[in-house]
Amino acid sequence: MPIYEYICLKCSEQFSLLQRVTGDQKETKCPKCSSGDVKKMLSSFCCSSGSGKSISPAVSAGGFSGGG
Ligand SMILES: [Zn+2]
Repeated sequence: MPIYEYICLKCSEQFSLLQRVTGDQKETKCPKCSSGDVKKMLSSFCCSSGSGKSISPAVSAGGFSGGG
């Protein structure tokens, strides 16, 4: 679920909301002053393609090499 950031044009309150990709768009209101005069901002982490793949180096289970 993408997170959209909004900013209130009335009290300059910034808040983020979780919105579904599909479905109708509900009226967004400021949680602070309950004003509907909000503006959608661009999220910083956009265009995220692919699933998170973590590259971990193969850990070789070696023993202690050393003459003793
Ligand atoms: Zn507000």
